[in-house]
Amino acid sequence: MSLYYDLHIHSCLSPCAAEDMTPGNICGMAHIKGLQAIAVTDHNSARNLRACCESARHFDLLFLPGIELCTREEVHLLSYFPTLEAAEEMGRRCLELLPPMKNRPDFFGAQIVMNAQDEEIAREDALLIGALSIGFSEACALVRSLGGVPVPAHIHRMNGAIQMLGFLPPEDAITAVEVKEGDFVPEGYRVLRSSDAHQLSDISEPLYTLQGSTAADILDYLKRNH
Ligand SMILES: [Zn+2]
Ligand SMILES: [Zn+2]
Repeated sequence: MSLYYDLHIHSCLSPCAAEDMTPGNICGMAHIKGLQAIAVTDHNSARNLRACCESARHFDLLFLPGIELCTREEVHLLSYFPTLEAAEEMGRRCLELLPPMKNRPDFFGAQIVMNAQDEEIAREDALLIGALSIGFSEACALVRSLGGVPVPAHIHRMNGAIQMLGFLPPEDAITAVEVKEGDFVPEGYRVLRSSDAHQLSDISEPLYTLQGSTAADILDYLKRNH
Protein backbone atom coordinates (compact mmCIF):
# COMPACT_ATOMS: atom_id res chain seq x y z
CA MET A 1 0.00 0.00 0.00
CA SER A 2 1.32 3.46 -0.95
CA LEU A 3 1.07 5.99 1.86
CA TYR A 4 1.59 9.73 1.83
CA TYR A 5 3.90 10.37 4.76
CA ASP A 6 5.74 12.85 6.90
CA LEU A 7 8.20 11.04 9.15
CA HIS A 8 9.92 14.02 10.75
CA ILE A 9 7.67 16.21 12.91
CA HIS A 10 8.54 17.90 16.21
CA SER A 11 5.99 18.22 19.00
CA CYS A 12 5.86 20.85 21.74
CA LEU A 13 8.27 18.66 23.69
CA SER A 14 11.09 19.92 21.47
CA PRO A 15 12.10 23.33 22.86
CA CYS A 16 12.52 24.73 19.34
CA ALA A 17 8.98 23.73 18.26
CA ALA A 18 5.85 25.86 18.57
CA GLU A 19 3.76 25.26 21.68
CA ASP A 20 0.69 24.48 19.58
CA MET A 21 2.44 21.39 18.16
CA THR A 22 0.24 19.28 20.42
CA PRO A 23 -0.59 15.63 19.65
CA GLY A 24 -4.12 16.51 18.57
CA ASN A 25 -3.06 19.47 16.43
CA ILE A 26 -0.26 17.54 14.70
CA CYS A 27 -2.50 14.59 13.87
CA GLY A 28 -5.43 16.81 12.93
CA MET A 29 -3.25 18.82 10.55
CA ALA A 30 -1.72 15.67 9.04
CA HIS A 31 -5.23 14.34 8.46
CA ILE A 32 -6.45 17.60 6.88
CA LYS A 33 -3.42 17.64 4.59
CA GLY A 34 -4.22 14.12 3.42
CA LEU A 35 -1.24 12.30 4.93
CA GLN A 36 -1.62 8.64 5.87
CA ALA A 37 1.55 7.90 7.87
CA ILE A 38 3.40 10.14 10.30
CA ALA A 39 6.26 9.96 12.76
CA VAL A 40 6.80 12.39 15.62
CA THR A 41 10.52 12.72 16.22
CA ASP A 42 11.41 14.99 19.12
CA HIS A 43 15.00 15.73 20.00
CA ASN A 44 16.40 12.98 22.23
CA SER A 45 13.08 12.12 23.89
CA ALA A 46 10.07 9.83 23.47
CA ARG A 47 7.87 11.45 26.11
CA ASN A 48 5.13 12.67 23.75
CA LEU A 49 4.97 9.57 21.58
CA ARG A 50 2.29 7.74 23.57
CA ALA A 51 -0.10 10.70 23.34
CA CYS A 52 0.71 11.25 19.66
CA CYS A 53 0.14 7.57 18.92
CA GLU A 54 -3.29 7.69 20.56
CA SER A 55 -4.20 10.86 18.67
CA ALA A 56 -3.01 9.30 15.40
CA ARG A 57 -5.35 6.38 15.97
CA HIS A 58 -8.24 8.81 16.35
CA PHE A 59 -7.41 10.35 12.96
CA ASP A 60 -6.78 6.98 11.32
CA LEU A 61 -3.11 7.72 10.67
CA LEU A 62 -0.40 5.09 10.68
CA PHE A 63 1.96 6.15 13.47
CA LEU A 64 5.65 5.29 13.53
CA PRO A 65 7.35 5.98 16.89
CA GLY A 66 10.55 7.96 16.40
CA ILE A 67 13.23 10.10 18.03
CA GLU A 68 15.70 12.51 16.44
CA LEU A 69 18.97 11.68 18.17
CA CYS A 70 21.88 14.09 18.30
CA THR A 71 25.13 12.15 18.40
CA ARG A 72 28.42 13.17 19.97
CA GLU A 73 29.52 14.54 16.57
CA GLU A 74 26.32 16.63 16.55
CA VAL A 75 24.88 14.58 13.71
CA HIS A 76 21.10 14.40 13.70
CA LEU A 77 20.03 10.79 13.38
CA LEU A 78 16.37 9.89 13.03
CA SER A 79 15.50 6.60 14.66
CA TYR A 80 12.28 4.70 14.03
CA PHE A 81 10.96 1.86 16.16
CA PRO A 82 8.46 -0.98 15.76
CA THR A 83 6.71 -0.23 19.07
CA LEU A 84 6.15 2.60 21.51
CA GLU A 85 7.89 0.55 24.17
CA ALA A 86 11.07 0.27 22.11
CA ALA A 87 11.05 4.01 21.42
CA GLU A 88 10.44 4.73 25.10
CA GLU A 89 13.39 2.54 26.03
CA MET A 90 15.52 4.56 23.61
CA GLY A 91 14.15 7.70 25.28
CA ARG A 92 15.29 6.46 28.69
CA ARG A 93 18.76 5.75 27.29
CA CYS A 94 18.85 9.28 25.88
CA LEU A 95 18.18 10.77 29.31
CA GLU A 96 21.22 8.89 30.64
CA LEU A 97 23.35 10.04 27.70
CA LEU A 98 22.39 13.71 27.69
CA PRO A 99 24.72 16.26 29.26
CA PRO A 100 23.54 17.20 32.77
CA MET A 101 22.01 20.52 31.76
CA LYS A 102 18.60 21.84 32.73
CA ASN A 103 16.36 23.51 30.21
CA ARG A 104 15.95 27.26 30.44
CA PRO A 105 12.49 27.70 28.92
CA ASP A 106 12.88 31.47 28.61
CA PHE A 107 15.97 30.93 26.45
CA PHE A 108 15.51 27.59 24.64
CA GLY A 109 11.71 27.26 24.77
CA ALA A 110 9.31 25.11 26.76
CA GLN A 111 9.48 21.28 26.70
CA ILE A 112 5.86 20.28 27.23
CA VAL A 113 4.72 16.71 27.86
CA MET A 114 1.09 16.10 26.92
CA ASN A 115 -1.60 13.47 27.11
CA ALA A 116 -3.80 12.42 24.20
CA GLN A 117 -6.46 14.94 25.28
CA ASP A 118 -3.94 17.70 24.52
CA GLU A 119 -3.52 18.52 28.20
CA GLU A 120 -0.14 19.38 29.64
CA ILE A 121 0.90 16.72 32.13
CA ALA A 122 4.56 17.62 32.78
CA ARG A 123 7.55 19.59 31.63
CA GLU A 124 10.83 17.91 30.77
CA ASP A 125 13.61 19.44 32.90
CA ALA A 126 16.64 18.05 31.07
CA LEU A 127 17.69 20.18 28.11
CA LEU A 128 16.84 17.94 25.16
CA ILE A 129 18.78 19.64 22.41
CA GLY A 130 22.26 18.71 23.65
CA ALA A 131 24.50 16.11 22.03
CA LEU A 132 24.32 12.59 23.47
CA SER A 133 27.55 11.09 24.76
CA ILE A 134 27.58 8.38 22.09
CA GLY A 135 29.04 8.55 18.62
CA PHE A 136 27.21 8.04 15.33
CA SER A 137 28.17 4.37 14.96
CA GLU A 138 27.26 3.50 18.55
CA ALA A 139 23.95 5.29 18.14
CA CYS A 140 23.15 3.29 14.99
CA ALA A 141 23.99 0.07 16.85
CA LEU A 142 21.89 1.03 19.87
CA VAL A 143 18.86 1.84 17.69
CA ARG A 144 19.19 -1.51 15.92
CA SER A 145 19.57 -3.39 19.22
CA LEU A 146 16.09 -2.09 20.13
CA GLY A 147 14.64 -3.25 16.81
CA GLY A 148 14.77 0.20 15.24
CA VAL A 149 16.14 1.66 12.01
CA PRO A 150 18.59 4.59 12.01
CA VAL A 151 18.04 7.16 9.26
CA PRO A 152 20.45 10.12 9.05
CA ALA A 153 18.42 13.35 8.95
CA HIS A 154 18.78 16.22 6.44
CA ILE A 155 22.13 14.76 5.40
CA HIS A 156 23.44 17.73 3.40
CA ARG A 157 22.32 20.45 5.81
CA MET A 158 23.37 21.73 9.20
CA ASN A 159 23.83 18.76 11.59
CA GLY A 160 23.46 16.37 8.66
CA ALA A 161 25.74 13.31 8.46
CA ILE A 162 27.46 14.36 5.23
CA GLN A 163 27.86 17.93 6.48
CA MET A 164 29.36 16.83 9.78
CA LEU A 165 31.19 13.57 8.93
CA GLY A 166 31.89 14.16 5.24
CA PHE A 167 30.33 10.81 4.28
CA LEU A 168 28.07 8.01 5.46
CA PRO A 169 30.41 5.53 7.19
CA PRO A 170 30.07 2.27 5.17
CA GLU A 171 30.52 0.12 8.28
CA ASP A 172 27.28 1.52 9.70
CA ALA A 173 25.35 -0.03 6.79
CA ILE A 174 22.88 2.83 6.51
CA THR A 175 19.97 1.85 4.24
CA ALA A 176 17.86 5.02 4.26
CA VAL A 177 18.55 8.75 4.41
CA GLU A 178 16.51 11.92 4.64
CA VAL A 179 17.17 14.69 2.14
CA LYS A 180 15.70 18.15 1.89
CA GLU A 181 13.83 19.26 -1.20
CA GLY A 182 16.27 20.16 -4.00
CA ASP A 183 19.29 18.47 -2.37
CA PHE A 184 21.43 15.84 -4.06
CA VAL A 185 19.95 12.35 -3.74
CA PRO A 186 22.62 9.70 -3.13
CA GLU A 187 22.20 6.38 -4.94
CA GLY A 188 21.67 3.08 -3.20
CA TYR A 189 19.53 4.34 -0.34
CA ARG A 190 15.87 4.59 0.45
CA VAL A 191 15.22 8.30 0.44
CA LEU A 192 12.78 10.05 2.74
CA ARG A 193 11.61 13.60 2.17
CA SER A 194 9.93 14.75 5.35
CA SER A 195 9.20 18.22 6.64
CA ASP A 196 11.15 18.55 9.93
CA ALA A 197 8.12 20.64 10.90
CA HIS A 198 8.46 22.77 14.00
CA GLN A 199 5.13 24.48 13.37
CA LEU A 200 1.78 23.20 12.13
CA SER A 201 1.86 24.94 8.76
CA ASP A 202 5.15 23.21 7.90
CA ILE A 203 3.77 19.67 8.06
CA SER A 204 4.18 18.08 4.59
CA GLU A 205 1.71 18.24 1.79
CA PRO A 206 0.83 14.81 0.30
CA LEU A 207 3.69 14.71 -2.22
CA TYR A 208 5.76 11.62 -1.47
CA THR A 209 4.79 8.05 -0.75
CA LEU A 210 6.31 4.99 0.89
CA GLN A 211 5.15 1.38 1.00
CA GLY A 212 3.59 -0.37 3.96
CA SER A 213 0.51 -0.85 6.05
CA THR A 214 2.00 -1.24 9.53
CA ALA A 215 4.91 0.30 11.45
CA ALA A 216 6.83 -2.96 10.96
CA ASP A 217 6.24 -2.76 7.19
CA ILE A 218 7.64 0.76 7.05
CA LEU A 219 10.74 -0.34 8.98
CA ASP A 220 11.20 -3.21 6.53
CA TYR A 221 10.82 -0.77 3.66
CA LEU A 222 13.52 1.46 5.19
CA LYS A 223 15.85 -1.50 5.72
CA ARG A 224 15.59 -2.64 2.09
CA ASN A 225 17.88 -0.26 0.26
CA HIS A 226 18.01 -0.46 -3.48
ZN1 LIG B 1 17.64 17.89 12.76
ZN1 LIG C 1 14.20 17.71 13.31
